[in-house]
Amino acid sequence: MGVARFALCKIASSTLPRMHHPSALRKMSVASDLKNSTIFRSQGLIGGQWVAAHDGKTLQVNNPSTGEIIADVPFMGRRETNDAISSAYQAFNSWSKLTATERSKCLRKWYDLIMSHKEELGQLITLEQGKPLKEALGEVSYGASFIEFFAEEAKRVYGDIIPATLADRRLFVLKQPVGVVGAITPWNFPLAMITRKVGPALACGCTVVVKPSELTPLTALAAAELALQAGIPPGVLNVVMGNASDIGDALLESPQVRKITFTGSTAVGKKLMAGAAGTVKRISLELGGNAPCIVFDDADLDVAVKGALAAKFRNSGQTCVCANRVIVQEGIYEKFAEAFSKAVQNLQVGDGFTEGVAQGPLINEAAVQKVESFLQDALSKGAKVILGGKRHSLGMTFYEPTVVTDVKSDMLLAREEVFGPVAPLLRFKTEEEAIRIANDTNAGLAAYIFTNNVQRTWRVSEALEYGLVGVNEGIISTEVAPFGGVKQSGLGREGSKYGIDEYLELKYVCLGDMNRE
Ligand code: ADP
Repeated sequence: MGVARFALCKIASSTLPRMHHPSALRKMSVASDLKNSTIFRSQGLIGGQWVAAHDGKTLQVNNPSTGEIIADVPFMGRRETNDAISSAYQAFNSWSKLTATERSKCLRKWYDLIMSHKEELGQLITLEQGKPLKEALGEVSYGASFIEFFAEEAKRVYGDIIPATLADRRLFVLKQPVGVVGAITPWNFPLAMITRKVGPALACGCTVVVKPSELTPLTALAAAELALQAGIPPGVLNVVMGNASDIGDALLESPQVRKITFTGSTAVGKKLMAGAAGTVKRISLELGGNAPCIVFDDADLDVAVKGALAAKFRNSGQTCVCANRVIVQEGIYEKFAEAFSKAVQNLQVGDGFTEGVAQGPLINEAAVQKVESFLQDALSKGAKVILGGKRHSLGMTFYEPTVVTDVKSDMLLAREEVFGPVAPLLRFKTEEEAIRIANDTNAGLAAYIFTNNVQRTWRVSEALEYGLVGVNEGIISTEVAPFGGVKQSGLGREGSKYGIDEYLELKYVCLGDMNRE
């Protein structure tokens, strides 16, 4: 079945508009072409069935770049979530008993289907999330890589044999799937934040109820459609959306859900962690960051500018690993500020479907207001805008790429995640001071340093209280390395050989042999 559908989908995607279409025409036709595509779904997925909310309620999905309504999706709540949990619970019985090779084959097929629909999925991400198409296509490859990696990893979930302490015993450690997983994901990576959780969960035999962000559910539903096409059995992957707190509460309260995995804000993460206590569930959290990007006097200026630019302005500054504080040593500060501003000035702002655009809109009005209030706070305390600093003339939620100097540690821009295209520059004198400033936060996800001194690289990397450190590099996420934070940035790691442990329980088996002489 996979093969026949695969062929059909290939034909469908070749009819999609090409890159050289004028952008206005292209935007209009992309939305309507996508709606006719085989991967477009606008209902929830429960037990292999595409379903509406029980009371028929819906919510609108908008294009943040134009405000246009793309689709209505079901506004679900507790009832639908409980149905999804039941089907995941039932499906767990058979899915967990398949051999690792069988599950691996399904995941591999899913990966292949995602990649053969890369263009449509990328367009869908740009349409509902706003990021430039090039970045969206990058997200499809990145998102798919987790499915491919964990399809392979499925076959390497080894247990242990422990040397026995008594002659008539044999001691084993088995690794078994935790059971039904509730996965709650954000809007900034509508595909990758899902595959990073669902890939390892399914690989080791868990079944999942996904709750994507209500702002970007269409990519999640398209990915789920491809999972069905790949032969992943009904009930193994379910998708519900609607009332976030009701869905979250249903997942937390159910004793059948054995694990919650979440990517999103620190505030919601804390609520989920507290809620998981009621049924003592496993929990993994990828929460907010406050990434320092430290530029030392001995850095290569071009490398530092390129790296900081990539780390700060990816997805218009809307990622939890985005450089939030650019901390620059006094000897290179002026030179860096000038070169960095020039590079930022060249970033083209516009609709994600327009060629050459590097900065799309922010996700919604609240995001713009947050940026404005942080900037206002900084200006009132003595910071200076040297580039940008206001809404973009394009209107909607477009904001000018902005560089601010003379930022101090007590300003909101330095204390919290701005989650927008604003780069605050702070100044430091010594390495010790840089480390102190960098660690002076409750967050601990990503940090970046730019230096050509090898000893300093080690010293500073070890001193930074962060889960990820990029050295002379601004883009460091990959499916083969562990992603996750320390302090209030979260618990657990995603991706890599470590990522699958989050979905496994250890079972110790002691085999006695009383008859042995
Ligand atoms: P962001 O500010 O990035 O949107 P959120 O933490 O609000 O971050 O959202 C991340 C995900 O958490 C989304 O899918 C959202 O719907 C969901 N969410 C928000 N509030 C709750 C809640 N009380 N319980 C469960 N999920 C929630």
